[in-house]
Amino acid sequence: MDFDDQNKPPQRKQEGPARGSKAALALFLSLALLFSALFVFNDKNPAKEIDYSAFLTNLDLGNVDAVKIIDQFEIQGTLKGKTGAEALFRTNIPYLDLNLLQKLRDKGVKISGSVKGTSPWQVLAEFAPWLFGFFILWLMLRQVQGNNKAFTFGKSRAKRYIEPPKKISFSDVAGQKEAKYELLEVVDYLKNPQKFVKMGARIPKGVLLVGMPGTGKTLLAKAVAGEANVPFFHMSGSDFVEMFVGVGASRVRDLFEQGRRSAPCIIFIDELDAVGRTRGAGYGGGHDEREQTLNQMLVEMDGFDTKDGVIILAATNRPDVLDPALLRPGRFDRQVVVAMPDVKEREDILAIHMQKIPVDPDVDVKRLARATPGTSGADLANLVNEAALWAIRKDRSIVEMGDFEEARDKILMGVARTSLVITDEEKRATAVHEAGHALIHYHLAHSDPLHKVTVVPRGRALGLTLSLPEKDVYSRSRAWLEDRICVMYGGFAAEKIIYGETTTGTAQDIRQATDFARKMVCEWGMAEEMGPVAFGQEDEPIFIGKEIAQHKDYSEDTARKIDAAVKRILEGALSRVIGLLTEHRDQLERLADELVAKETLEDSDVRSLLGFPLREAQA
Ligand code: ADP
Ligand code: MG
Ligand code: ZN
Repeated sequence: MDFDDQNKPPQRKQEGPARGSKAALALFLSLALLFSALFVFNDKNPAKEIDYSAFLTNLDLGNVDAVKIIDQFEIQGTLKGKTGAEALFRTNIPYLDLNLLQKLRDKGVKISGSVKGTSPWQVLAEFAPWLFGFFILWLMLRQVQGNNKAFTFGKSRAKRYIEPPKKISFSDVAGQKEAKYELLEVVDYLKNPQKFVKMGARIPKGVLLVGMPGTGKTLLAKAVAGEANVPFFHMSGSDFVEMFVGVGASRVRDLFEQGRRSAPCIIFIDELDAVGRTRGAGYGGGHDEREQTLNQMLVEMDGFDTKDGVIILAATNRPDVLDPALLRPGRFDRQVVVAMPDVKEREDILAIHMQKIPVDPDVDVKRLARATPGTSGADLANLVNEAALWAIRKDRSIVEMGDFEEARDKILMGVARTSLVITDEEKRATAVHEAGHALIHYHLAHSDPLHKVTVVPRGRALGLTLSLPEKDVYSRSRAWLEDRICVMYGGFAAEKIIYGETTTGTAQDIRQATDFARKMVCEWGMAEEMGPVAFGQEDEPIFIGKEIAQHKDYSEDTARKIDAAVKRILEGALSRVIGLLTEHRDQLERLADELVAKETLEDSDVRSLLGFPLREAQA
C-alpha cells in the first residue's frame, strides 16, 4: 500500500481549466446575488434623511411628533400631519447638543432611545467587500494555474511506502547478482548507520541505477528499502517538470525535507534523466524550469550529510545524457549497472513470477527462457501474466505450456489474428514462403536451429519462422551473418521457385537482409573491398539538441562503393538460396503441404517429416 504523504486527495482531482472556471463563474454569480440581496435588505429603512438644521427648524415649528435617539448619534422620528413613509425621517446628530433634550421636552415631543445591536447581517455587510476581494484574488490565483491545485502546488508528491502489504526483498529480484552486491552495502548502512559513522567510512550519498527499461531498477530500489526496513520516498523525474516554473525546484526541496525528517530512509528518483539532462542542451523554450529543478537537486544533495541517514537512489536508462554535475563525487558517485537478463536469469525471473499462478508441472521453464532472448524482466513478468489470462480465457484452472508459448508469441510478435479469414490460396502461398525460410535452416552450417514455423497470422505478418539460438550470443561471426541473410531470403526464393514471381510479403525480409548487409559493410568491416573502416554515424535516436543531424563522413564515390558491396553480399546470398531450394524442391513442397495441414510445425516435426536426424537435445 502506498500512502500519499501529504494526505491531500484534492491533488488527485485534476479538474480541467474549463470546468474549473465554469464552477467559479457559478459561484461568483450566486455570491453576487447574495450580496445585492443583502444590501437591499439592509437598505429597507424608508425614512427620509434630513439635515440636522432642517430637523431643528421642524422642531421649532412644532412639526415633530416623536423621536427615537439611537446611540446618541442618530435620530429617527415621525412628523406631525403626515402618514406612512411620508412621516418618517432620520438625521445624524453632528455635535453634542446639550440643548436638544430641553427643546424636545419644550415642544412636547415623545422621546425614546435605543442602542443599536450589531445584527449578523450588518457584520456580514461590513466584511462583504473584504471577503469578496479575497475571493476574487483566490479565483485569479486558480486561473493562473489552470487547475485546482491552488494551495497544494510546490509540495512534492513523493509516495511513501510504509510497510507495504508484501515487503519487497532481494529474493523477489531474480539475477542481478552484481547490483545486489553493490546495494547490500547501502542496506547495511541504513540498518546500522552508527557502525559506519564510528568507523569513519564514507558511504555514497547517491547511487545511480543504470539499465534498460524493464530490467528491474525500480524493483531493486524498493527491495533495498524493504531489506533495510526504512521508509521509501518514490518520485519520478517527470513529476518534477510537469508544472510551471519554480514548482519543480520547490518539489525537490520538499522531497528532501520529507526525507530528512524521516531518516533513515531512501529517496528514490526514478527517470532521473527527465530532470537531469545536461543543462543548456534543451532545444526550444521551457528548459529553464528543468534547469532550476536540477540546480535545486544539486544544492540539496550538497547540503546533505550522509550522517543524516538518507540515501538517494536514482534510476535512468540514459546515463549518457545526464548532466556531468550529477555524477561528481558527493552526488551520484556510484553507478550500479542493472543488466538485461541472460538465459539463466530469464529462467529465474519466469520462475519467480510463475509462483504467483497455478502452473502445470509439465511446463518447461528452461525452454521458455531459451525462447525469449532479448526480453527484459518486465517483458517476462508480462508474459507470465498473459499466459494466465490465456488459460482463463480457455476456462482452465491451470496454466499449461501452450499458454506460455501463446503468450510468448503474442509478446514477441503481436496478437495472433486467428479470426482473420484467409483464402486457401493465400494460406498455401504463405506456407510456401515460410517453408522456404524454414528449410534453409537445415541446409546451412552456421545458422541457428529452427524453433518453429507457422502460417497462423500474427500482428502484420501472415506467417512466421523463428530460429532459436542455443545460447545468448553477443557477438556474431561473418559466416553466421551470411547464413542469416540466406534464411531471410528463403521466403523470397521459395516464392520465385514455386510461383515464378514474388509478392509484397517479402518486403520485411528484404529490408532486414539489406540492413544486415549494410551493417556488415559499414560497421563491421566485413566487405574486403571496403576494408575495416566504419562509414557513417550510428543513427540511434540521439537526444535532440545535442546532435540533430546524422552526418555522412564519406564521399559520393565511397557511397557508390558501399552500395555495390551491399548488393554483392545480397545477390550472393540470394543465388545461394535459390540453388539450395531448387536442389531440394521436393522437401520444400512437402514442408509447404504439411504447413497447410498443420499450420504450425516445430523443429522436431520438420525433422521427422523430412527424415533429418534429431538434434542432441531432442534425442
Ligand atoms: P525498470 O524500473 O528498470 O524499468 P521495473 O523495476 O519497473 O523496471 O520492472 C518492472 C517489472 O518487471 C517488475 O515489477 C517485475 O515484476 C519485473 N521484473 C523486472 N526485473 C525483474 C527481476 N530481475 N526479477 C523479477 N522480476 C523482475
Ligand atoms: Mg522503473
Ligand atoms: Zn518472410
